[in-house]
Amino acid sequence: MTHNADNPLHGSFGDKHDLQPATSRSIRTMLVRLQPAGDLIHCGTIHDLAPARLQPVVVQTGEGVWIADWLSEIHPDQTSAENPPELAGEVLRLASEEDQQSSIAAEGLALRLHDEATAVLANTSLPIVLVATEVDLEHRFAKLRFLGKPHEALGPLADQIARRIDLQRVQWVSLQDPLGAPGDNASGAPSGQLQALPDRQEKEFWDRWDTVTSPGPLLDHALGKSFRVAAGNRGWYQQKRRAANPAGRHIPAGRSWMVRIRTAAGGILASQLVQLLKWAEEYGDGTLRLTMRQSIQLHGIAGQSSDELMQKFGDHLLSTLGSCGNSVRNLTCCPLPPSDREGFRAAEQAVRDLAIGLGNDFLPRGSAFEYRFSEQRSTPVSASPKPPPATESISQLPHKFKIGIASDHHDCADVLSNDLGIVVRTASFHSDRFQTGAPSVPLVDLYVGGSTSYRADDNRSSPQLALWLGTIPLEKASQATEMLLGMFARRSLDASRHFQRWKYVVQRTGIPILVDQFRQQAGDQIDLVRESPPALPRPGRHPAEVRASNGQTWRRWHFPCGRIYQHDLPTLQRWATESAPIRVGTDHDLIVRSRMTDGAMPLPPIADRACPAMPTCPLAVAPAETEWKEWSTAVQRMAEEAAIGPLPFAISGCSNGCSRPLTTVLGVIAETPKRRAVFLGGTPTRLGTRVGQVNSPAELVQLIRPWLLRFHHERLDDEDFAVWFWRIGLK
Ligand code: SF4
Repeated sequence: MTHNADNPLHGSFGDKHDLQPATSRSIRTMLVRLQPAGDLIHCGTIHDLAPARLQPVVVQTGEGVWIADWLSEIHPDQTSAENPPELAGEVLRLASEEDQQSSIAAEGLALRLHDEATAVLANTSLPIVLVATEVDLEHRFAKLRFLGKPHEALGPLADQIARRIDLQRVQWVSLQDPLGAPGDNASGAPSGQLQALPDRQEKEFWDRWDTVTSPGPLLDHALGKSFRVAAGNRGWYQQKRRAANPAGRHIPAGRSWMVRIRTAAGGILASQLVQLLKWAEEYGDGTLRLTMRQSIQLHGIAGQSSDELMQKFGDHLLSTLGSCGNSVRNLTCCPLPPSDREGFRAAEQAVRDLAIGLGNDFLPRGSAFEYRFSEQRSTPVSASPKPPPATESISQLPHKFKIGIASDHHDCADVLSNDLGIVVRTASFHSDRFQTGAPSVPLVDLYVGGSTSYRADDNRSSPQLALWLGTIPLEKASQATEMLLGMFARRSLDASRHFQRWKYVVQRTGIPILVDQFRQQAGDQIDLVRESPPALPRPGRHPAEVRASNGQTWRRWHFPCGRIYQHDLPTLQRWATESAPIRVGTDHDLIVRSRMTDGAMPLPPIADRACPAMPTCPLAVAPAETEWKEWSTAVQRMAEEAAIGPLPFAISGCSNGCSRPLTTVLGVIAETPKRRAVFLGGTPTRLGTRVGQVNSPAELVQLIRPWLLRFHHERLDDEDFAVWFWRIGLK
């Protein structure tokens, strides 16, 4: 219906110059966002269309017919007459129900295309990673987006793939590789795995790694402490199955490995997630586990598979560096896109940008990035493609160093549980401007020395929330972080491993002295102010659906205990064909910009939390995830009986507290195989207090019943449990 002699846009859309308006009066210029990938293009139209913002329209381009979101009309006075925007397509019509159905069918074909292309690529040695596949509405054109450099061999492969599923044309689209050319690999590290430490140490480590992971007498041995630490620095922890295989998993008997993949503040490609789940089946226990710190674990890897698996990680631009060990760890922050709430957006964007930026500056070198297909650009946002600027001394820390970032109006990352918590002050983005007309200076508050782990058998050890150090300009956050890391590296204590944590340095030094030292070092570079103590960050949880500032909808997919099983693979594959941006959340969840609504997992009103513990975690003294259901059912049934609604609940298999039991309203921590400590009233800004110990779900219910019943009778209006608990003060 569009291409006729009267149509001034008539012509081949393969040549953009054919599309320049013949007269600016007859052709209107529109800005649209192509679905599913989010490319922004200008289109012309001669039709009398008046779409609402974000209304789906049908667009013809040189590469097929696509659904697009209509964003805005570009009026002639917004463009220069000499240099009008290049038109890359034509808006044909508003999308009808029939068009939407064709789009769904195209998604199905894209899934097939993904499989075919993967099969074809498997027979080549081309160093590219398939990211996403898209098929147009008429099922004639398709795009294969990949990471890597264009190669002459790709053309014939495109023809081969097109013939397999009867497409007229398949086009390769190269996405910029955020790593650039990988460096040489003199260290002996498995190909594709980037270097963390100086060459000599790396070579020694990998030589030893080859020995202990080759079939032979060493394969099933426990490893020495220093080698375990070195392996941890590269993302690998040796484990031993100490109980029966949990349902749905196949962990080898005896010793195996857990490997942890880091993300860019939660960002990961759907295609990478698909690959990880397939490798989990091939090399591990068949599942993935999302951690509370937004990384991804594979469990039950046989030692002899590790080289092969690391090769695959490298080929798919996945990194294990910075996920474990004595380094700055995966930075954690809210995974949501900036919301459409006026007044909050800038601070929310700053949180994410800061997390990515600090990742670039301080995480060990390795590939972790997210593609922002949909936030007005399609570019890789990386953490961290380049080596950190920091000195070697801070790349080899005495212990792990966790950094969390939040805004003061939304903290879903338990930011005060981190060694360094950075909290963006929302009001600082606009208060000066409104009050004095002066440009605003965005500010952040620094909190230091948080860590909720403790040693149950040592009363010198204690959990602690981070303490306020002071307020600095946002733009100085990286410099301040480097200074604090330097202080940590130089001032570690001559003590056993647990007491090497930064929180003990902070405890011994005290905040006033630490402030003085910070100011002395910072000189006039950073103005650390302690004049107005901040309001503590407000705890945040995520609804099932969030509308972002650019109008797109992101959905939260919850996976109980963070465990993704093989039956979730089709869902992940659909996301991959949609090029759906994905972020690993902070609460056993994925945040996905997907149009999928069918099959969405029902969200619990409040997610329970559990760490993996038995049978694999070597530090576990009792089960957590494998018994989570019994404990949770007992707790939530009791809460229902008391008519107080669901009660946030977390259970951990040891006092490291990986499931955050001390910052959850009801926390249960295994301190010995037969003793679980019970904590009540925890929130991200106040640690729960110990109210007793139990040895079974029935005992737990008996212990907390009086509290829940009292809460039911004494609560004020919408008061939540933690607020009531601290108001009555344990009386
Ligand atoms: S809390 Fe303890 S048992 Fe649970 S995963 Fe962490 S270290 Fe292992």
